[in-house]
Amino acid sequence: MPADATSPTSPLRLLLVEDEEHLAAGLRLNLELDGFEAVVAGTGREAAEALLSARAFDAIVLDVMLPDIDGFTLCERIRSAGNYTPVLMLTARNDPEDRVRGLEAGADDYLAKPFELPELLARVRSILRRRRWDKREEKNGGPRAVVTIGEARVDFESHEVAVRGEPVKLTRLELDLLRYFVEHPGKVVSRQHLLEEVWKLHNYSTARTVDNFVSRLRRHFEPDPQNPVHIVSVRGAGYKFVP
Ligand code: CA
Repeated sequence: MPADATSPTSPLRLLLVEDEEHLAAGLRLNLELDGFEAVVAGTGREAAEALLSARAFDAIVLDVMLPDIDGFTLCERIRSAGNYTPVLMLTARNDPEDRVRGLEAGADDYLAKPFELPELLARVRSILRRRRWDKREEKNGGPRAVVTIGEARVDFESHEVAVRGEPVKLTRLELDLLRYFVEHPGKVVSRQHLLEEVWKLHNYSTARTVDNFVSRLRRHFEPDPQNPVHIVSVRGAGYKFVP
């Protein structure tokens, strides 16, 4: 169980991936004043090296525009390496496409530049809190950590997914969507509702991203993805999960 950021003994450790030195130094100072330990990486390569170090990070603040790699790609690589450390992505503008891209790459939240410092601190605390809730719920036997869907077995705690015994990698957001379905069996949910509940996107009109994710999940969890029996489409309404 990670300590609170206010604990003087073991501060939460953040990786700050930001190439603008002035901004990075200012953020590090303020994060440290707020009780965090912050490690700065100025490039994607430095970030990758830091992530290989012995001590794990509690969260990653990741700028999209980096000199050697973009933050979306780096986030995808972090996730496909099986690392589910919470990621707050710093996007250059408040563009819904950028936000969706970040979340599809496996980020937990995003913040558009320029931002106010208190907002960054609040978002960092929020992704850390959400992760602690996940852990607590699982410990208290809240939502079941391990479920079977047809011939697939999903462990929401360890993020291990196996279909017919073969391991399958899902991104954080794919797992979140699957978990939402699993926790609401038999309920018809609209794309807009899923965007709000899973993606945390409000007033975002393009629901196609939900369809893309549903197709990806069907490829893994449906015996015949063309004729789904678990994540079924409800014409004109959305989707329904049938365990
Ligand atoms: Ca940058």
